[in-house]
Amino acid sequence: MKSGKEIRCSLCGEPAATRIAYAKLWLCKKHFIEFIEKRVFESINRYRLAGQGQRMLVAVSGGKDSITMLYLLHKTSMKMGFEVIALHMDLGIGTYSKISREIVEHFCKSLGTPLIILDLKTLIGYSLPELVHKTRRPPCSICGLIKRYLINVVAQEIKADAAALGHHLDDLLPYILKNFMLQNLFEISKLGPKTESVDGFVGRIRPLYDVSEHEIALYAKLSNLPFVDEECPYTSKKSLDKQVKEFLNNLESLHPGIKISFARAVARNIHVYKTLSVAKTLKRCVVCGAPSSDDMCSFCKLTNRVAGRPLGAEVRLKIRDMLSSLGLLK
Ligand code: SF4
Ligand code: ZN
Ligand code: ZN
Repeated sequence: MKSGKEIRCSLCGEPAATRIAYAKLWLCKKHFIEFIEKRVFESINRYRLAGQGQRMLVAVSGGKDSITMLYLLHKTSMKMGFEVIALHMDLGIGTYSKISREIVEHFCKSLGTPLIILDLKTLIGYSLPELVHKTRRPPCSICGLIKRYLINVVAQEIKADAAALGHHLDDLLPYILKNFMLQNLFEISKLGPKTESVDGFVGRIRPLYDVSEHEIALYAKLSNLPFVDEECPYTSKKSLDKQVKEFLNNLESLHPGIKISFARAVARNIHVYKTLSVAKTLKRCVVCGAPSSDDMCSFCKLTNRVAGRPLGAEVRLKIRDMLSSLGLLK
């Protein structure tokens, strides 16, 4: 912006901090912050993500997305009267994990939010890099499997109504589009703003469902939120994912608002994707009792392979002890 011809906020006339093309608005810092907070509050109401008296488990990695989500849920919880408990997993990825853990610890302390830390090495005897080395499997696939399993265990043990994930518009839309192209419709049914709890699985909510990556980054910066700036060293650079994301961003610059319309249309039709999917019959893991398509769940299979015995049941007991000492068991 040039001085003398400074662009002004459409709402108050103060110097503008950003332009929201799809809303045809220039906004100053104060009004941009209000704009995003209102959007997330509306999403929580529109998609019925949280309600009075509920208990929400919030998965926080320490990156800008999950820190912003935690902050906004914390603010909203005071208005709506639900409980927020944070969960951080220390994956043991060198300084990246060390810095992430410290940031989450300090931030939760400053908000007064209870925090559960699961240290992977302490819990199962192996850090993520050690698991990658032992199994030769892609890091993100092991990481995803472990996180899904542990989030579910903690959420079940503390009787959370849902687990909140920091996925935003630009995480979800490329994935939705890719799954649509491949006609993996069951996958799309899991990518909406909310998945309901079913027997053995605690539901998931995505409060940042219709907020873009750029908006989150700017919100975190203007609100002075602390977050880990560096990316996980294992971050995937798959070219198809990148190209689909670029395609959607190009479309957005030509047709402002198309991404939000796409996301909201998917949210409206999520029930259709569910009915189109072939229902899988789930069994229970013989070791830990978790829902599983096989006799043994993926977590027990993985730990069996690296540690020589399946660890699901032991891990659940360790987590229960820890939650009990934190006073978080209901
Ligand atoms: Fe896990 Fe991959 Fe994300 Fe790193 S980039 S935290 S390994 S899912
Ligand atoms: Zn303003
Ligand atoms: Zn198991």
